[in-house]
Amino acid sequence: MQIETTASGMRARLAELRRSGRTTGFVPTMGALHAGHLSLVQAARAAGGAVAVSIFVNPTQFGPHEDFSKYPRAFEQDCALLQTEGVELVFAPGVAELYPAGASTFVEVEGISDRLDGRSRPGHFRGVATVVAKLFSIAQPDKAFFGQKDAAQVAVLRRMVRDLCLGVELVVCPTVREPDGLALSSRNRYLTPAERQQALVLSCALRQMEASFQAGERDAAALRAAGLRALAKEPKVRLDYLAVVDAETLEDRTEASVGTLVAIAAWIGTTRLIDNTLLGVSGEPLF
Ligand code: AMP
Repeated sequence: MQIETTASGMRARLAELRRSGRTTGFVPTMGALHAGHLSLVQAARAAGGAVAVSIFVNPTQFGPHEDFSKYPRAFEQDCALLQTEGVELVFAPGVAELYPAGASTFVEVEGISDRLDGRSRPGHFRGVATVVAKLFSIAQPDKAFFGQKDAAQVAVLRRMVRDLCLGVELVVCPTVREPDGLALSSRNRYLTPAERQQALVLSCALRQMEASFQAGERDAAALRAAGLRALAKEPKVRLDYLAVVDAETLEDRTEASVGTLVAIAAWIGTTRLIDNTLLGVSGEPLF
């Protein structure tokens, strides 16, 4: 496994791989890897090409009062895990490599970037779209692998890839969960044992909404009410949003149908967690 820290080194290495006839599967991450990230690596491996993983905590997607400086960093451990997964190439640039002094070019995916997390975290998706565009420009992968866990991010990036004619195939992989339903997240390590217990209410709310959908409910307000009832059982959990939206546009739906996205964000103490499910879609078990 090779580790590259410069864009030119990464380009040279990928050009070599391409010359040897291999396609590239790319997995962008912010590190502090867990089994959710590794499921993307495994999907990339299964797709047959060489696998490249980026590890970069992207400053532009964090708000001024968010956790950029305390975001978990575990580079050595991450590399050991990726080595075990048979990854060919790791890209771990410093901030100045991707944002040279005076960088003033950003990618703005208008409209959709202001919905869900984009509404709660102004500028978040501008940062995400910008860094992923840079990473795609460097890696020029055939396929890039993302988690359904970040459903709004997937919608924004799909739109960006389409609008900018980037020609990268986005592959979305199911959310990996703990046995009790909690979606894996690098931020779960912030939780105290009591908060870890409270956090279960997120997947529980989604499960209630899925159950209600399975029972025939299609009215978005009624589905939402079912989720809110579940959330009320953990009064310490502070809801940011619970939304029933179109998975592609992230616009509110009044009526749900198969594939409608139900997304939640909530604060557990000082930790903000997100989760979601696609209603009625098999292969998206909530645990
Ligand atoms: P992050 O390091 O949080 O930026 O995540 C990198 C990639 O891993 C993103 O595409 C995430 O959606 C994906 N990911 C994070 N958590 C999970 C999970 N529990 N299951 C599947 N994919 C995940």
